[in-house]
Amino acid sequence: MPKLVIIGTVALDNIRTPFGEVSNALGGSAFYAGLSASYWTDVGVVGIVGKDYPEEGFSVLARHGIDSKGIERSEGLTFSWSGEYTYDLNTAQTLRTDLNCLLSFNPVLPESHDSLETLFLANIDPEIQAKVLDSLPVRPSLVVLDTMNFWIEHKKDALQKVLRRIDVLTINEGEARMLSGQFSLVSAARTILGMGPATLIIKRGEYGVLVFNRESVFASPAYPLEDVRDPTGAGDSFAGGFIGFLTSQGKFSDDTLRQSIVVGSAMASFCVSDFSTRAIEGLKRTDILKRLESFSSLTSYQALPLMSLRTEG
Ligand code: AMP
Repeated sequence: MPKLVIIGTVALDNIRTPFGEVSNALGGSAFYAGLSASYWTDVGVVGIVGKDYPEEGFSVLARHGIDSKGIERSEGLTFSWSGEYTYDLNTAQTLRTDLNCLLSFNPVLPESHDSLETLFLANIDPEIQAKVLDSLPVRPSLVVLDTMNFWIEHKKDALQKVLRRIDVLTINEGEARMLSGQFSLVSAARTILGMGPATLIIKRGEYGVLVFNRESVFASPAYPLEDVRDPTGAGDSFAGGFIGFLTSQGKFSDDTLRQSIVVGSAMASFCVSDFSTRAIEGLKRTDILKRLESFSSLTSYQALPLMSLRTEG
């Protein structure tokens, strides 16, 4: 029985980066987030695929213990995204978005998902995100939502409506500016928090993340990696690790929130080291623990000896 339900795209991606390219590769927001979260809690993925979707996608989910009963198989074609990165690996250029079977998607959560505790509305049409919330008899204790420029451009009203109903929004830097109409990220955060979510996570690629709520701001770096080959899915892997860990803790205090940000950042650092989902499939416990240890040494330092400060008053 999944404690965490993730609804989003299950996709076939065509990706080009300076380090290579892949076509019809396994991807999609719910697919990446599901794999990443599966290292921390019981996950169910809800989405839709077409007749062209390879069985390998379902096998990967099964190998990670993910419940895929909520993935509908349609007669159409699978949602497909084609994107490219030049030497700025922080920003994907979308070349094509083929919504295909997403256009007829009417999400239904299977009975096995009735006991969900947390919900991740991963990047997908905001009208679908709202429908999922409408369909739940009881609101989960934590609702996290992710979106992107495509939906801000095409469905801003629907997006603003659903933002009033969630707890945490994850969005990237450029999209935070686009949604708020503000250049300063601090001003953008204030505007977006005014739209509904209590917590806002701004993803900044290789510069890490900024987390805003009404009381505080928290920052986490991205793990400095020698080889980044394909940033696709970094945001979704971050979000999957983040909400997967929070779900496993069962409480959403400021401390667990900060820990979960570090977990998300560690999971994202695996994702970007290879194309598609290769690097977040089959991770070993020791790899994850080692990465988390490196993270804490990256950010910890002794309290400063402030007695040596020479200014009066
Ligand atoms: P990210 O974590 O932001 O790099 O997300 C990458 C994934 O998002 C890819 O695997 C795509 O299939 C998926 N994707 C791209 N465009 C959209 C869209 N408009 N809606 C939902 N998912 C998308």
